[in-house]
Amino acid sequence: MMELQICHLYPDVLNLYGDRGNVLCMQKRLTWRGIGCTVTELPLGERRPLGKYDIFFIGGGQDFEQSLLLDDLRGGKGADIKSAVADGKAFLCVCGGYQLMGHSYETHTGERFDFLGALDFETVGAAERMIGNFAFETEFGSVVGFENHSGRTRLGEGVQPLGRVIRGYGNNGADGTEGARYLNTFCTYSHGPVLPKNPAFCDGILLAALQRKYGSASLDPLDDMSEQAAHESVLRRLTAGI
Ligand code: GLN
Repeated sequence: MMELQICHLYPDVLNLYGDRGNVLCMQKRLTWRGIGCTVTELPLGERRPLGKYDIFFIGGGQDFEQSLLLDDLRGGKGADIKSAVADGKAFLCVCGGYQLMGHSYETHTGERFDFLGALDFETVGAAERMIGNFAFETEFGSVVGFENHSGRTRLGEGVQPLGRVIRGYGNNGADGTEGARYLNTFCTYSHGPVLPKNPAFCDGILLAALQRKYGSASLDPLDDMSEQAAHESVLRRLTAGI
Protein backbone atom coordinates (compact mmCIF):
# COMPACT_ATOMS: atom_id res chain seq x y z
CA MET A 1 0.00 0.00 0.00
CA MET A 2 1.27 3.47 -0.85
CA GLU A 3 1.65 5.81 2.08
CA LEU A 4 2.58 9.45 2.65
CA GLN A 5 3.82 11.07 5.83
CA ILE A 6 2.77 14.66 6.42
CA CYS A 7 4.70 16.96 8.76
CA HIS A 8 2.76 19.97 10.05
CA LEU A 9 5.37 22.59 10.93
CA TYR A 10 4.68 25.10 13.71
CA PRO A 11 0.98 24.22 14.26
CA ASP A 12 1.23 26.01 17.62
CA VAL A 13 2.32 29.36 16.19
CA LEU A 14 1.24 29.56 12.54
CA ASN A 15 -2.45 28.67 12.64
CA LEU A 16 -4.63 31.43 11.20
CA TYR A 17 -8.06 31.08 9.61
CA GLY A 18 -8.30 27.31 9.97
CA ASP A 19 -5.22 26.73 7.81
CA ARG A 20 -4.93 23.34 9.51
CA GLY A 21 -7.91 22.27 7.39
CA ASN A 22 -5.41 21.87 4.54
CA VAL A 23 -3.75 18.99 6.40
CA LEU A 24 -7.12 17.34 7.04
CA CYS A 25 -8.04 17.75 3.38
CA MET A 26 -4.80 16.12 2.16
CA GLN A 27 -5.23 13.28 4.66
CA LYS A 28 -8.86 12.67 3.66
CA ARG A 29 -8.20 12.69 -0.07
CA LEU A 30 -5.45 10.12 0.44
CA THR A 31 -7.40 7.78 2.72
CA TRP A 32 -10.52 7.95 0.50
CA ARG A 33 -8.31 6.42 -2.18
CA GLY A 34 -6.85 3.73 0.08
CA ILE A 35 -3.48 5.50 0.39
CA GLY A 36 -2.05 5.53 3.91
CA CYS A 37 -1.32 8.85 5.61
CA THR A 38 0.09 9.84 8.97
CA VAL A 39 0.34 13.39 10.29
CA THR A 40 3.07 14.51 12.68
CA GLU A 41 3.15 17.93 14.28
CA LEU A 42 6.50 19.66 14.75
CA PRO A 43 6.02 22.64 17.07
CA LEU A 44 8.30 25.49 18.11
CA GLY A 45 11.32 24.29 20.09
CA GLU A 46 11.37 20.73 18.75
CA ARG A 47 13.83 19.50 16.17
CA ARG A 48 13.64 16.13 14.49
CA PRO A 49 15.16 14.65 11.30
CA LEU A 50 12.83 15.49 8.40
CA GLY A 51 13.96 12.75 6.01
CA LYS A 52 10.98 10.44 6.52
CA TYR A 53 8.32 13.05 5.70
CA ASP A 54 6.90 13.44 2.19
CA ILE A 55 4.72 16.54 2.56
CA PHE A 56 5.22 19.59 4.77
CA PHE A 57 2.57 22.12 5.66
CA ILE A 58 3.18 25.60 7.11
CA GLY A 59 0.24 27.89 7.87
CA GLY A 60 -0.07 31.65 8.24
CA GLY A 61 0.69 33.96 11.16
CA GLN A 62 0.94 37.62 12.00
CA ASP A 63 4.25 39.51 12.07
CA PHE A 64 4.59 38.89 15.82
CA GLU A 65 4.21 35.12 15.46
CA GLN A 66 6.69 35.12 12.60
CA SER A 67 9.23 36.92 14.80
CA LEU A 68 8.86 34.19 17.44
CA LEU A 69 10.17 31.62 14.96
CA LEU A 70 13.45 33.30 14.10
CA ASP A 71 15.56 31.70 16.86
CA ASP A 72 14.01 28.31 16.29
CA LEU A 73 14.79 28.49 12.55
CA ARG A 74 18.38 29.57 13.23
CA GLY A 75 18.80 26.69 15.67
CA GLY A 76 18.95 24.23 12.75
CA LYS A 77 15.34 23.70 11.77
CA GLY A 78 15.65 26.35 9.05
CA ALA A 79 18.54 24.46 7.42
CA ASP A 80 16.56 21.21 7.67
CA ILE A 81 13.57 22.82 5.93
CA LYS A 82 15.76 24.37 3.25
CA SER A 83 17.37 21.05 2.37
CA ALA A 84 13.96 19.29 2.28
CA VAL A 85 12.83 21.90 -0.29
CA ALA A 86 15.99 21.40 -2.36
CA ASP A 87 15.45 17.64 -2.11
CA GLY A 88 12.10 17.99 -3.91
CA LYS A 89 9.88 17.22 -0.92
CA ALA A 90 6.34 18.58 -1.32
CA PHE A 91 5.52 21.74 0.63
CA LEU A 92 2.36 23.80 0.97
CA CYS A 93 3.09 27.14 2.63
CA VAL A 94 0.39 29.73 3.34
CA CYS A 95 0.85 33.49 3.84
CA GLY A 96 3.14 33.94 6.88
CA GLY A 97 4.45 30.42 6.19
CA TYR A 98 4.97 31.42 2.56
CA GLN A 99 6.91 34.55 3.51
CA LEU A 100 9.33 32.63 5.72
CA MET A 101 10.49 30.50 2.77
CA GLY A 102 11.91 33.62 1.10
CA HIS A 103 15.06 35.62 1.83
CA SER A 104 13.55 38.24 4.10
CA TYR A 105 10.50 40.15 5.32
CA GLU A 106 10.67 43.82 6.22
CA THR A 107 7.55 44.74 8.17
CA HIS A 108 5.72 48.02 7.62
CA THR A 109 7.07 49.21 10.98
CA GLY A 110 10.64 48.71 9.79
CA GLU A 111 11.56 45.42 11.49
CA ARG A 112 13.60 43.08 9.30
CA PHE A 113 13.31 39.29 9.54
CA ASP A 114 15.98 37.27 7.76
CA PHE A 115 14.20 34.10 6.73
CA LEU A 116 15.29 30.88 5.02
CA GLY A 117 16.03 31.82 1.42
CA ALA A 118 14.79 28.38 0.42
CA LEU A 119 13.01 30.18 -2.45
CA ASP A 120 14.16 33.26 -4.34
CA PHE A 121 11.86 36.08 -3.25
CA GLU A 122 11.59 38.97 -0.81
CA THR A 123 8.68 40.53 1.05
CA VAL A 124 8.20 44.12 2.21
CA GLY A 125 5.20 45.22 4.29
CA ALA A 126 3.04 48.31 3.82
CA ALA A 127 0.56 49.96 6.18
CA GLU A 128 -2.39 49.18 3.93
CA ARG A 129 -3.28 45.50 4.11
CA MET A 130 -4.47 43.50 1.13
CA ILE A 131 -7.66 41.83 2.30
CA GLY A 132 -10.49 39.96 0.62
CA ASN A 133 -11.70 36.95 -1.28
CA PHE A 134 -9.60 36.40 -4.39
CA ALA A 135 -9.08 34.04 -7.31
CA PHE A 136 -6.13 33.10 -9.47
CA GLU A 137 -5.40 30.83 -12.41
CA THR A 138 -2.87 28.00 -12.00
CA GLU A 139 -1.74 24.86 -13.79
CA PHE A 140 -4.46 23.10 -11.71
CA GLY A 141 -7.19 25.44 -12.96
CA SER A 142 -8.66 28.35 -11.02
CA VAL A 143 -8.07 28.56 -7.27
CA VAL A 144 -10.31 30.57 -4.93
CA GLY A 145 -9.37 31.75 -1.45
CA PHE A 146 -9.09 34.55 1.06
CA GLU A 147 -6.08 36.83 1.52
CA ASN A 148 -5.10 39.16 4.35
CA HIS A 149 -1.53 40.38 4.31
CA SER A 150 0.56 43.48 4.70
CA GLY A 151 3.55 41.91 2.93
CA ARG A 152 4.19 42.59 -0.76
CA THR A 153 6.18 39.72 -2.24
CA ARG A 154 8.40 40.13 -5.29
CA LEU A 155 9.64 36.95 -6.92
CA GLY A 156 13.27 36.60 -8.02
CA GLU A 157 14.61 34.94 -11.15
CA GLY A 158 14.85 31.49 -9.62
CA VAL A 159 11.17 30.95 -8.87
CA GLN A 160 7.88 30.83 -10.80
CA PRO A 161 4.55 32.26 -9.64
CA LEU A 162 1.99 29.69 -8.53
CA GLY A 163 -0.60 31.53 -10.60
CA ARG A 164 -1.95 34.72 -12.17
CA VAL A 165 -4.49 36.85 -10.33
CA ILE A 166 -8.03 36.82 -11.72
CA ARG A 167 -9.48 38.98 -8.94
CA GLY A 168 -7.80 40.37 -5.82
CA TYR A 169 -4.21 41.29 -4.97
CA GLY A 170 -1.99 38.18 -4.89
CA ASN A 171 1.73 38.68 -4.29
CA ASN A 172 1.84 42.45 -4.36
CA GLY A 173 -1.27 43.93 -5.97
CA ALA A 174 0.80 45.18 -8.90
CA ASP A 175 2.39 42.55 -11.14
CA GLY A 176 -0.52 40.09 -11.40
CA THR A 177 1.35 37.17 -9.85
CA GLU A 178 0.16 35.04 -6.95
CA GLY A 179 2.23 32.67 -4.84
CA ALA A 180 5.38 30.83 -5.76
CA ARG A 181 6.31 27.46 -7.18
CA TYR A 182 9.78 25.90 -6.97
CA LEU A 183 10.44 22.16 -7.42
CA ASN A 184 7.60 20.61 -5.37
CA THR A 185 7.11 23.61 -3.10
CA PHE A 186 3.81 25.47 -3.49
CA CYS A 187 3.36 28.81 -1.72
CA THR A 188 0.22 30.93 -1.65
CA TYR A 189 -1.39 33.87 0.13
CA SER A 190 -4.65 31.94 0.17
CA HIS A 191 -6.09 31.18 3.61
CA GLY A 192 -9.40 29.70 4.23
CA PRO A 193 -8.20 26.85 4.25
CA VAL A 194 -7.45 26.75 0.53
CA LEU A 195 -7.48 23.06 -0.36
CA PRO A 196 -11.04 21.83 0.46
CA LYS A 197 -12.63 24.16 -2.11
CA ASN A 198 -9.83 23.64 -4.65
CA PRO A 199 -9.54 19.85 -4.89
CA ALA A 200 -7.48 19.87 -8.11
CA PHE A 201 -4.82 21.95 -6.34
CA CYS A 202 -4.84 19.49 -3.43
CA ASP A 203 -4.44 16.54 -5.79
CA GLY A 204 -1.59 18.31 -7.62
CA ILE A 205 0.37 18.48 -4.37
CA LEU A 206 -0.46 14.87 -3.44
CA LEU A 207 0.56 13.63 -6.87
CA ALA A 208 3.87 15.53 -6.74
CA ALA A 209 4.64 13.84 -3.39
CA LEU A 210 3.61 10.37 -4.58
CA GLN A 211 5.62 10.64 -7.79
CA ARG A 212 8.68 11.80 -5.93
CA LYS A 213 8.40 8.86 -3.53
CA TYR A 214 7.28 6.06 -5.86
CA GLY A 215 8.59 7.17 -9.27
CA SER A 216 5.23 6.97 -10.96
CA ALA A 217 1.80 7.26 -9.41
CA SER A 218 -1.71 8.28 -10.32
CA LEU A 219 -4.76 9.30 -8.30
CA ASP A 220 -8.19 7.70 -8.71
CA PRO A 221 -10.91 10.28 -9.34
CA LEU A 222 -13.16 11.19 -6.38
CA ASP A 223 -16.71 12.46 -6.32
CA ASP A 224 -15.98 16.19 -5.98
CA MET A 225 -19.48 17.47 -6.68
CA SER A 226 -19.82 19.40 -3.40
CA GLU A 227 -16.27 20.74 -3.56
CA GLN A 228 -16.73 21.88 -7.16
CA ALA A 229 -20.07 23.52 -6.31
CA ALA A 230 -18.38 25.49 -3.50
CA HIS A 231 -15.54 26.44 -5.83
CA GLU A 232 -17.84 27.52 -8.65
CA SER A 233 -20.10 29.59 -6.42
CA VAL A 234 -17.15 31.59 -5.00
CA LEU A 235 -15.63 32.01 -8.46
CA ARG A 236 -18.94 33.21 -9.93
CA ARG A 237 -19.30 35.85 -7.24
CA LEU A 238 -15.71 37.01 -7.64
CA THR A 239 -15.80 37.27 -11.40
CA ALA A 240 -19.26 38.84 -11.71
CA GLY A 241 -18.79 42.04 -13.63
CA ILE A 242 -15.31 41.28 -14.97
N1 GLN B 1 2.39 38.82 8.79
C1 GLN B 1 2.22 38.66 7.39
C2 GLN B 1 1.63 39.87 6.68
O1 GLN B 1 0.79 40.57 7.23
C3 GLN B 1 1.42 37.42 7.14
C4 GLN B 1 -0.01 37.49 7.58
C5 GLN B 1 -0.80 36.24 7.40
O2 GLN B 1 -0.27 35.10 7.48
N2 GLN B 1 -2.08 36.38 7.19
O3 GLN B 1 1.98 40.09 5.55
